[in-house]
Amino acid sequence: MALVVMKFGGTSVADTDRIRNVARHIKRETDAGNQVAVVVSAMAGTTNQLVAWTKGAAGESVVEPREYDAVVATGEQVTAGLLAITLQAMGIAARSWCGWQIPIVTTDAHCSARIAGIDGAAIKSCLATGEVAVVTGFQGIEPDGQRIATLGRGGSDTSAVAIAVAIEADVCDIYTDVDGVYTTDPRMVPKAQRLAKVSYEEMLEMASLGSKVLQTRSVELAMTNGMRVRVLSSFAEPESLEPVKKGAWPEIGTIVCDEEEIVEHQTVSGIAYAKDEAKITILRVDDKPGVAARIFGPLAEANINVDMIVQNVTADGAHTDMTFTVPASELPRSLKVLNAARQEIGDFQVASSADVAKVSIIGIGMRSHAGVAARMFAALSEKGINIIAITTSEIKISVLIDAAYTELAVRTLHSTYGLDAE
Ligand code: ASP
Ligand code: MG
Repeated sequence: MALVVMKFGGTSVADTDRIRNVARHIKRETDAGNQVAVVVSAMAGTTNQLVAWTKGAAGESVVEPREYDAVVATGEQVTAGLLAITLQAMGIAARSWCGWQIPIVTTDAHCSARIAGIDGAAIKSCLATGEVAVVTGFQGIEPDGQRIATLGRGGSDTSAVAIAVAIEADVCDIYTDVDGVYTTDPRMVPKAQRLAKVSYEEMLEMASLGSKVLQTRSVELAMTNGMRVRVLSSFAEPESLEPVKKGAWPEIGTIVCDEEEIVEHQTVSGIAYAKDEAKITILRVDDKPGVAARIFGPLAEANINVDMIVQNVTADGAHTDMTFTVPASELPRSLKVLNAARQEIGDFQVASSADVAKVSIIGIGMRSHAGVAARMFAALSEKGINIIAITTSEIKISVLIDAAYTELAVRTLHSTYGLDAE
């Protein structure tokens, strides 16, 4: 018997028919004698609707984070109840659990809380009686036990991994509307291929660089705890999949695991892109010690995340230009903060644009291969794509380009590194 956590995303539970389909996936596992804890998202579109309602209610004023959480956490509660009812109707013992009932204790950072601890005992004893535990994703309860808190958009993935860790599950299966993790977005590049296995580190980069398959925090959590995660499609015929067996589950979808388990490493395993950054250029600031600190200090204090940074030398040697990126949604606020710091920074002109995209190549193989960056830059230049900024880490290289060239850049790099399907 295996202990399995199965997580189903919004499109997988979009209506009562889809929920019945999910119940069949669960039945396949319970019929095989497995113990199952399920984590569910809100039905497709529900969270967006709930968020829109909070904004509508607040009008011109700011939405109070605690009440935002009280509203948006309801989506998952509906799905959990409906799935438990569906399972019961199929003759499978089941009950729903809200975050606070377990409890899943979070930090008190409402709207983007982190999981601080989960007591797995209640779920474990529920499972031991042969019942399926259906748990709401995305939510928990803050430390003083007074209010519901949510984990940020996409947070159900993190709930699932955290629960899998807490109950020492054999595997955490994330069911979604695609059949795995791809070398790049298949909607953009039809020749994208499913990865049979991907390392935690690569997945972490992919998630934080814009692949929407898993929430970044869920990958962090899986990596630190060595929890194996499979990404697979709920749209597959439930009975066509093999149930999990202890220690030897079938290799369906994409397995996110330790790099040691991956025999063959491509230099580059994936190409990611993100269009949600904006660039700011500060022109002609003094080129002397302390200027960077005076620019980025106020942004940091305002909690604005700066990503890529390039500093140029200008011809006169006394001044410099500084280009950097911030989340596009934070552009207006960033400009305000910079203007307010004009006194400290010294006089400068500023230019900004949200028409940029960040395109990244990711691969563990980069550690041991030279010339990966040179090849990337050459491939882009052949297509006439100008690079505005570059950042690198041990296993990724990101370039900032004009947004209009995103698709061309992604396709070009995908074939440059031999990722195109035959
Ligand atoms: N329902 C939440 C959202 O749409 C959490 C999740 O689905 O992971 O962001
Ligand atoms: Mg998701």
